[in-house]
Amino acid sequence: MKKYALIGQNIEYSYSPFVHNLITAEAGFESEYTLMSFDAVSLPAFVDRLKGGYDGFNVTKPFKQDIIPYLYTNNSQTGAVNTVDINAGILTGYNTDGTGFLHSLKFNNLDFYGKDVLLLGAGGAARAIAYELDKTCNVSIYNRTTDKVKIIIKELNLKNTNIADITSIKPHVIVNATTLGLKDEMSLPEGLNIDKLEIVYDTIYNPHMTPLLKWAKGCNKVYVNGLSMLLFQALEAQKIWQGITLSEKKIREIYKQLEAKI
Ligand code: NAP
Repeated sequence: MKKYALIGQNIEYSYSPFVHNLITAEAGFESEYTLMSFDAVSLPAFVDRLKGGYDGFNVTKPFKQDIIPYLYTNNSQTGAVNTVDINAGILTGYNTDGTGFLHSLKFNNLDFYGKDVLLLGAGGAARAIAYELDKTCNVSIYNRTTDKVKIIIKELNLKNTNIADITSIKPHVIVNATTLGLKDEMSLPEGLNIDKLEIVYDTIYNPHMTPLLKWAKGCNKVYVNGLSMLLFQALEAQKIWQGITLSEKKIREIYKQLEAKI
């Protein structure tokens, strides 16, 4: 049986095993997907263990950049890797967060084309989302550590993305790609003008209503959590690992089961 895992730190909240097991069961494949939560010093030992007995793994916070030196080939164009395929001990990296995010917009009938987007965060998920949104939107990135935003814009050669000046921007869309909200913290920076705000997207799915989304609901804005992104980035990973593709009907059925679990 093929073996896969999610690696990260403090990730007990993750629904990845549940979603991957739903996808493979729906596709009629037998494989196993487990969580491996450990701290940064243990990364080399865990990579060795994965190389020895696994067919691939997903990577989440805070290892999406740390994993890159271990790869033989890196196919991610975002400077962050969330999916690794293992073939005869050789590691190949990919990023399915950006495409997963875009598929989730379509799934929720959202179109960000030409919109002014405030992206919160500059970690692995934010990199992947910025890379995709920069192609069709005007993006402002706000992050606790501003230098990381400068690095993303330079490294990814983003043309339509700037460091957010919270006091002057009027975004149509807010996307939260920070970890603020996982433990009930508010991710929205103070002083933002929301006169033009239409849509609030939080990449967090557990809890399904973060303080940001509760606020958006209270303001009568369209609000979406990260559950569909979770599903689509997992589907993209399974396509890479096992060639799995599912019909839209099956994808909607899995989504319903995910919603029921949450
Ligand atoms: P990451 O690389 O560790 O990045 C974490 C981000 O959160 C950084 O921007 C960091 O700011 C910010 N942050 C952390 N603690 C903070 C604090 N106390 N105050 C302000 N900012 C803080 O993590 P990631 O992999 O990008 O994940 C980020 C989020 O996206 C997580 O909540 C994760 O659940 C979500 N996500 C969802 C999906 C999905 O499929 N739905 C997929 C991927 C990620 P600094 O740079 O200043 O440290």
